[in-house]
Amino acid sequence: MSTFRGRFAPSPTGRMHLGNIRSALLGWLQARSANGRFLLRIEDLDRARCKPQYVDDLMEDLRWLGLDWDETPLVQSQRDDLYREALATLEQQDLVYPCFCTRAEIARAASAPHGLSEEGPRYPGTCAHLTSAQITERAKTRAPAIRFRARPGEAHFIDALMGPYTQDVDAVVGDFVVRRNDGVASYQLAVVVDDAASDITHVLRGDDLLSSTPRQLQLYDALAKRAPDFLHVPLVHGEDGKRLAKREGAFALAELRERGVAPERVLGLLAAWSGLGDGTPRTLEELLRAFSIEALPRSPVVAKEAVLLKA
Ligand code: GLU
Repeated sequence: MSTFRGRFAPSPTGRMHLGNIRSALLGWLQARSANGRFLLRIEDLDRARCKPQYVDDLMEDLRWLGLDWDETPLVQSQRDDLYREALATLEQQDLVYPCFCTRAEIARAASAPHGLSEEGPRYPGTCAHLTSAQITERAKTRAPAIRFRARPGEAHFIDALMGPYTQDVDAVVGDFVVRRNDGVASYQLAVVVDDAASDITHVLRGDDLLSSTPRQLQLYDALAKRAPDFLHVPLVHGEDGKRLAKREGAFALAELRERGVAPERVLGLLAAWSGLGDGTPRTLEELLRAFSIEALPRSPVVAKEAVLLKA
């Protein structure tokens, strides 16, 4: 039996659009074509933006396309004990420290040339060496976030689609947050703890997360867990260059469903954006036969709204 274990890990912050549905489809195809397991995990740590209704909606969207999953989906908001355990493991190795900085303070303190990564300013290490007296004093007025001490130096990994990727996490991002100052685990920590706990062997996701992977690899090392293989697919953009996540309307799967568009038609469009078809309708079985990593595009795909409106 195959030991391949893949997953789809959406954040239920809105209706699924064709971009994240495409990631789900490709993850499912990769797992099922390897006779592997495919898991669903709900990443709902951002309590302000996530809604239970969106969880029901996304499950319905997946089922409608025929994308099934194995095992009971994990829900991140119910797994704080595990994240705390992982934090304790990092603490025992002196790899984390409390940080009292506000966003504005970090922005002011960050400086060129490495001051700005795509995720904001590099953390300049202001709180990296506070004494316990200073920590006690500051904790009286502000709850701290917890940061991981980034390991300096260029690190490489090989993405299954994009090839070699190099980043010096310390130079680009600096010490990064593993627990937010509201006490909730950060995405970086939770994703590593959960993928490790679920024995995920293959992560397929959008390439907006490519630059997060070196941070996650440092956490795998620190927690003495085996990292999965990573495959990052270029995102789908609208004709205006904006990611589908930032757009509404025609790109929501629910909208197509409500208009009576058949699942095979949607699968055909998703296949065309993935090098697996010419845009004409496809069944899941046909896509399983056509799936190969080599076929996947290595640059952003442009979705034409007119094609969708005609669907
Ligand atoms: N929850 C993340 C998102 O929806 C994906 C996390 C991942 O695949 O690692 O963007």
